[in-house]
Amino acid sequence: MDCSTVKKDTECVFMTKKGCSFNGGSCHPIVEECNGCSRSSEVSSGWYCTACPDPSVKWRHGDCNFATHVAKEAQVKNTKINPLKASKRRAR
Ligand code: SF4
Repeated sequence: MDCSTVKKDTECVFMTKKGCSFNGGSCHPIVEECNGCSRSSEVSSGWYCTACPDPSVKWRHGDCNFATHVAKEAQVKNTKINPLKASKRRAR
């Protein structure tokens, strides 16, 4: 159903015929950590996240998993290589 509170005319799963069913009755504005994220959008009443109704929750336990401005560190796997098996593989 289309939102009739802060993100007017956008489809939302929390919107019901009785109004917004989300905690507090509407979406919550973005938090400081969200600055620079492409999922944040400005509406007449402020800046809101297009992916999450309460951005502060997404940052409570580390980086937001939807954030587009947080560079993920490349995970370098430190695997042990058995030199004997490696030499056999090379011999094939
Ligand atoms: S996706 Fe995460 S970082 Fe981006 S605006 Fe939403 S809550 Fe903030």
